[in-house]
Amino acid sequence: MSIQESIKVTSKGSIGLVEFDLVGERVNKLSTPVMKRLEEVADELKNSSYKAVIFISRKPKIFIAGADIEEIKGIREKNEAVRLVESGQAIINKFEDLPMPTIAAIHGACLGGGCEFSLACDYRIVTDDSSTRIGLPETKLGIIPGFGGCIRLPRVIGLQGALDIILAGKSVDGKKATKLGLADLCVPKEQLEERVFAFAKDKIKSGARKRKKYFSPKGTMQRFMESFLGRPLVFQQARKMLFKQTRGHYPAPTKAIDVIQSTYGMRNRGKALEIEAKCFSEVAVTDISKNLIHIFYMTEAIKKQNGVSDPNVKPHSVERVGVLGAGTMGGGIAQLAADKGMDVRVKDISNEAIAKALQTAYSIWEKSYKRRRITKYELNAKMALISGTTTYDGFGQLDLIVEAIVEDMEIKKKVIGETAKHAPATCVIATNTSSLSVTEMSQGHPHPENFGGMHFFNPVHKMPLVEVIRGEKTSDEVTATIFDVSKRMGKFPVVVKDGPGFLVNRLLLPYLNEAVYMLGEGFSIEDIDRYYLDFGMPMGPFHLIDEIGIDVAVKVAKIFHKAFGARAEPSPLMSKIVETGRLGKKNGKGFYTYDSRGKKLEIDQKVYTDLGLSRPNKKMDKDECIHRGIFAMINEAALSLVEDRIVESAQEVDLAMIMGTGFPPFRGGLLKYADAVGTTKIVDELEEFAIKYSERFRPSTPLKNMAKTNRLFYS
Ligand code: NAD
Repeated sequence: MSIQESIKVTSKGSIGLVEFDLVGERVNKLSTPVMKRLEEVADELKNSSYKAVIFISRKPKIFIAGADIEEIKGIREKNEAVRLVESGQAIINKFEDLPMPTIAAIHGACLGGGCEFSLACDYRIVTDDSSTRIGLPETKLGIIPGFGGCIRLPRVIGLQGALDIILAGKSVDGKKATKLGLADLCVPKEQLEERVFAFAKDKIKSGARKRKKYFSPKGTMQRFMESFLGRPLVFQQARKMLFKQTRGHYPAPTKAIDVIQSTYGMRNRGKALEIEAKCFSEVAVTDISKNLIHIFYMTEAIKKQNGVSDPNVKPHSVERVGVLGAGTMGGGIAQLAADKGMDVRVKDISNEAIAKALQTAYSIWEKSYKRRRITKYELNAKMALISGTTTYDGFGQLDLIVEAIVEDMEIKKKVIGETAKHAPATCVIATNTSSLSVTEMSQGHPHPENFGGMHFFNPVHKMPLVEVIRGEKTSDEVTATIFDVSKRMGKFPVVVKDGPGFLVNRLLLPYLNEAVYMLGEGFSIEDIDRYYLDFGMPMGPFHLIDEIGIDVAVKVAKIFHKAFGARAEPSPLMSKIVETGRLGKKNGKGFYTYDSRGKKLEIDQKVYTDLGLSRPNKKMDKDECIHRGIFAMINEAALSLVEDRIVESAQEVDLAMIMGTGFPPFRGGLLKYADAVGTTKIVDELEEFAIKYSERFRPSTPLKNMAKTNRLFYS
């Protein structure tokens, strides 16, 4: 099928209609062949007698999803990047320069290059459908908009609105786009074509010519911010905020500010686009961009997977979900399932717990309501999906039950057996345990093949990972069902084999333990946490231990020590900390102090004396501090992946660590980072640490083998 079929030009009377429908592709995207075809189209339109032109997509939920990421990923040289972007800019300019008014009729995703194309049109009409998203997500891939987005978006919606979208890589829905002035009209999707034609006819009738939309500020404040005096303040503030969020690890948004600052208000389009192209080339070739694209691909891959090796295995259909335990996790799981439209039945032994869970769910939705993300009607409808019980009433109709009661093997086994008796034979039961064996627990179920693990992270509505745990007997259908439901709940599922700590907690613990060892050696909590923040971790290890709960961390450390022996020996300080009455954030007393609402205040200087430590007086080498924790994680990852086969691939390790612990995305993941450092260096340093500190650092056989043969995790 020819590319002509993918972008067709037809007409209705004096109005030209350009229809996008890339043949053989799920989405419309601006690859090189598509851009070539667009150039032909622009030339054809220029020489036509149409009085207006409409651009529309024939894909169900996509206008144009963006540029071809594969092409961006392949860019190695700056010159190559400049060439690619400049040729794209020239084509987009041709549309901007068409002699007749042009209208983009937008339904579905209108992102990146798609949004930039629409910005070159005179008018944008959007649908109010939830699939309509307009925005510039480039910075999320470590690049900047390169087809004029950094120049046209601020012109159309003003500085603050544009910075907000471009720096965060955000997109907005149809209504918001209209409010921002990005769209001229928002209509129901069924009426899009009809309304766009009526709009075009109107423009023709009123003799409207081309327009170049300029943002007009409203109110004194906005006018000041747009003025020559106010602009430097806006940029200064944006840079400050950005640094606070990224600690300088993400160069793309900073580059975007550079471009906008030097081109805003510039009348010379060619010069402005040249600056954009040059800055694009500087970020497009960085490893950071390649790493972020790598993560994008990993997340896209999940969408196509079913969680098992046989692609023909189908998940059970799940509409009614049961949750056992209405505590921190059960309450969160119930809220999430109802949020996605599932009917939820929560069982607890305590009515107070149920009431509290309902209250927590309500307050999460109330926040969305206050931010106008949902209506009052939607809030009430979601709330109505959750019901609570202290009996097994209603359990006879459930498709999936997630168990989130106390972390005790015997109680869990007993409750699971009881639950299975009240549930349909086909119902899948999944445990949310964080440290117990799923295989052993499945013995409580009369049909262990219908049992698996569904390990959410805390807080459930925020943390994007679910570990799907296969017990020895868990069937393919059950694994696929848990995998599918996790995706429907908006999470990234990673299938892991049963084993102590599964994957994420197993890798995290050596890192946390190492921080406590360093504290015992006389280094300060402040330095250690700050070094890891500088490395890119979302919070330092002591802050994280406080969040997890010091008692929980100590309990898990003991389990790991039993399972893995010397290399997981906990720092003797671990148990001592709990003896000081510190449980972390939950009792407002940990390595940090907290206010009554749980907000972290400052390091609790009493920790040192309480633990019998003298005031920290040593300065640790920053690299050594970071390597002790991170290399210990890499060592454990090599064992988990190569020897114990907890997961099948380096990609899964990386995705799980990014989504489960916030491992810095710009590094591409733990094992991408390991490959960048080199296994030889890692093994050598671990050997040195083993001599200097303890046997627990001794590099594992799989890691040593990789170093010997110069192999990478990603080969
Ligand atoms: P929690 O103490 O907040 O809640 C447990 C709830 O279970 C309580 O409301 C309790 O009344 C209820 N319960 C106890 N026995 C019950 C029974 N027989 N039937 C029904 N309800 C019963 O605990 P949590 O932190 O939500 O943890 C629950 C599970 O999730 C544990 O297995 C834990 O390991 C796991 N988990 C916890 C976290 C976390 O950060 N809290 C993270 C991941 C997994």
